[in-house]
Amino acid sequence: MCGIIGYVGEKNCTPILLNGLKNLEYRGYDSAGIAVLEGNSINIKKSKGRVKNLEDLIEKDLCGGNIGIAHTRWATHGKPSKENAHPHEDNSHTFALVHNGIIENYKELRHFLCEQGYSFFSETDTEVIPNLIHYYYEKQEKTKDGFLQAVALACKKLEGSFAILVLCKYFPQTIILARRNSPLVVGKGKNEYYIASDIPAILEYTRDFYFLDDNEISFLESDIIHFFDFDLLEHEKELIHSSLSRNSSNKNGYEDFMLKEIEEQPQAIFDTLNQDIDLHLSSSFSQIYIVACGTAMHAGLVGKTCIETLCKIPTFVEVASEFRYRNPIIDSHTLCIFISQSGETADTIAALKLAKQKKAKTIAISNVMGSSISREADVCFYTYAGPEIAVASTKAYTSQVCLLCMLAILFAKQLKTASDKDLEVLKEDLLQLPKQIENILEHKDKIQILAKQLAFERDMFFLGRGIDYTTCLEASLKLKEISYIHSEAYPAGELKHGPIALIEQNTPVVGILTEEALLEKTISNLQEVIARGAKTFIVTNQELPKNIFDFVFTIPKTSRFTSPALSIVPLQLFSYYIAKQKNLDVDKPRNLAKSVTVE
Ligand code: GLU
Repeated sequence: MCGIIGYVGEKNCTPILLNGLKNLEYRGYDSAGIAVLEGNSINIKKSKGRVKNLEDLIEKDLCGGNIGIAHTRWATHGKPSKENAHPHEDNSHTFALVHNGIIENYKELRHFLCEQGYSFFSETDTEVIPNLIHYYYEKQEKTKDGFLQAVALACKKLEGSFAILVLCKYFPQTIILARRNSPLVVGKGKNEYYIASDIPAILEYTRDFYFLDDNEISFLESDIIHFFDFDLLEHEKELIHSSLSRNSSNKNGYEDFMLKEIEEQPQAIFDTLNQDIDLHLSSSFSQIYIVACGTAMHAGLVGKTCIETLCKIPTFVEVASEFRYRNPIIDSHTLCIFISQSGETADTIAALKLAKQKKAKTIAISNVMGSSISREADVCFYTYAGPEIAVASTKAYTSQVCLLCMLAILFAKQLKTASDKDLEVLKEDLLQLPKQIENILEHKDKIQILAKQLAFERDMFFLGRGIDYTTCLEASLKLKEISYIHSEAYPAGELKHGPIALIEQNTPVVGILTEEALLEKTISNLQEVIARGAKTFIVTNQELPKNIFDFVFTIPKTSRFTSPALSIVPLQLFSYYIAKQKNLDVDKPRNLAKSVTVE
């Protein structure tokens, strides 16, 4: 969701900024803009729509400056338009600024600034910020320190979330940046700095990063970097080296990131399993909450089954946007696990803060080193899936499932709630997953043929019991997200309590059958829909009776806890191929954004 990029150094910044914006396109946006500072003039170009439009406008070179900022906007206040696109300036054209996030008190600030004689030319919440900076700057010495003071004072007045980069026309070597509840990283090069809201945007230039914290402000010139809090107390910051590979953020010959990422799952799982995780779990925990949004929440549901079964601790899974507003009953005897691929999901971060206030022990699971939840939680465990660019999550999901199984094994060992033998078997099953996924991927043509037949259906149903139901939820979400087909995931036994009324002649129903103990029951439920005319498509690792179902895709055998990491793979491919058949933009589906940094 929305992206920021900045550069200060010796190179011409325009191509770097445009390239960075392209790297950020996957996050979803509606307009783009750039500001380059050369001499004492700030040159701004903006356009509605794609970065390509901005590029055409710039026609190669904005003006050859080597300090600049750029933005892809995902509108929250004011329609997508050139006027509302960032960068925004103050009335005197002294400051230019890009902003990710939402200024919650912008109405009050706007009112205050209007009283001071300022005018507004956009509908955005953002435009108050450069004007507020100008308001404070007028009261300062006209020095770089005065510039820094003015930005810090403005930041203190802002409520809500922001990551900002600010240029001032009087200081053509300086960028000031600040954040609260919205990510910013600074990449260090040789006599240059790259700034971005997201590492992949600048991964091709550097692997050394400073991660800005909440309520932190930084002063940057090509060879100077300082970090302060909003009272301008200076502090040191650690430079962190990232081991992410550059290839992970390009398509590497694939038509789409999503297919590339589906096929990267064996490696992502291998890398996630190939780490030592350690945490001493106090036996005093009486309950566990797993809190997340979307696909990560579905991974949490698998984690619940695994943790409850192996560790015998009641475990609840909750959607972060609900959890944060319902005053959950948690205390120091509660362990809360927060899952977010990006580590920047606004609702999940807010839920984490709430759990900390209530003294719960907090664990984060994130795919992004240094992300907000990784720093906010007591402990963070990482999935090593590499950058996930496609909006629809695939490799992050299966990696999260594996990491949750690893955590369950670790806890069960400490609590002695499962036999060593059972835990060894599960470990072995986890280690087999990469090979088994490769095996599934070898048969993707079968799924492609099926997807062609079903691409233009209006509705679909996904049925399963137990852990297969959690996979149904994820498979149904994938289908909705990228193919725009309406779909419902239902516990197989629940269908007859209502939704079976929707089954008509030829309605497609996908059944997932890996729960051995529930096999007969689920088959009976599928018979019920067949009797009402449904066509059935099955993913299974069981022996099934012949000639009942229209299509059966067999996946390798594994334990019930690891089975979701296998059964989802053909269904990810299914959604992917349907979307391709419908000529849709699989990587950037309509209305969706990758890392959801607004609540
Ligand atoms: N709230 C700002 C706007 O609507 C920033 C949105 C964004 O983060 O892209 O312009």
